[in-house]
Amino acid sequence: MSYGPPVITIDVEDWPQSTWDRSLPITERAVKNTRRVLQLLREIDARATMFVLGKLAERFPQVIKEIQADGHEVACHGHGHLEIGRQSPKEFLADVRRSKDLLEQIIGMQVRGYRAPDFSIVHDTLWALDVLAEAGFEYDSSIVPARLPRYGIAGWPVLPTRVRLNQGGSILEAPLATFQALGRNLPVGGGGYHRLLPGFASRYFARRIMIDAPFVFYCHPYEFDVYELREIPVRVPLAVRFYQGAGRRWFEQRFRSFVGCLGWQTMRDMLLSHSWPEFDPRSLTPDSLGLGKLSTPQSTTVS
Ligand SMILES: [Zn+2]
Repeated sequence: MSYGPPVITIDVEDWPQSTWDRSLPITERAVKNTRRVLQLLREIDARATMFVLGKLAERFPQVIKEIQADGHEVACHGHGHLEIGRQSPKEFLADVRRSKDLLEQIIGMQVRGYRAPDFSIVHDTLWALDVLAEAGFEYDSSIVPARLPRYGIAGWPVLPTRVRLNQGGSILEAPLATFQALGRNLPVGGGGYHRLLPGFASRYFARRIMIDAPFVFYCHPYEFDVYELREIPVRVPLAVRFYQGAGRRWFEQRFRSFVGCLGWQTMRDMLLSHSWPEFDPRSLTPDSLGLGKLSTPQSTTVS
């Protein structure tokens, strides 16, 4: 079965606030970087799903209108970019409701999708899926089906699934792309991997993954900003500057080649174009660690 071209997703946020210090204000630089990405997407005639941080939308609502006017899907990245594990369910509900309501006021349309800061829906925070359904989201795209030091759930299906919730009902989960090698799932969907791997390797992984599952790609507007880490007035250690800045110089060219060779689709279009199996997270067992594939889908539903 073909799942179509890569799903292009972009987490719209400001590097100093989202990665370094959550208390910092969102800067004009984030707007400039977002506009740069919008211009690039116009040039290559591509549409993406943009997971927008509420804090950015609150300060700069105009750029959210521009995202929508260009035909991209506006989705939600929460309000303050605090990892879910550092919030109670009640605090998390307040955070996502605040950002969803704000985005819907700005664009005048329903916001259907959510992505967690730092992919922080992990085994211990799966309750977040219940909260997202309660807040009215139809899908989530936060889970990396891999065993990683800071995030990921080993054994999670690599296909999108309709996840059974504890409180009844379900929510669609569209996991980030991973590549199975040496018995492990490697997170090759974007970010650092996409900046550091040679372009041909990124395209190879994507083509292989797209045989069995959708390729959910992700990146951030700041990754297109070559000089940010040299110019921002925030004291950041050299090692962090190096890792976070590595590969930004050729990121735009990589992105152009990637989308030019493989095409694009939005998350909403991909999710609506197929039926997805159901998945019950309570079926995750130690035996499933590292496998990352659904062995026997329990049933199918039309999303
Ligand atoms: Zn983020």
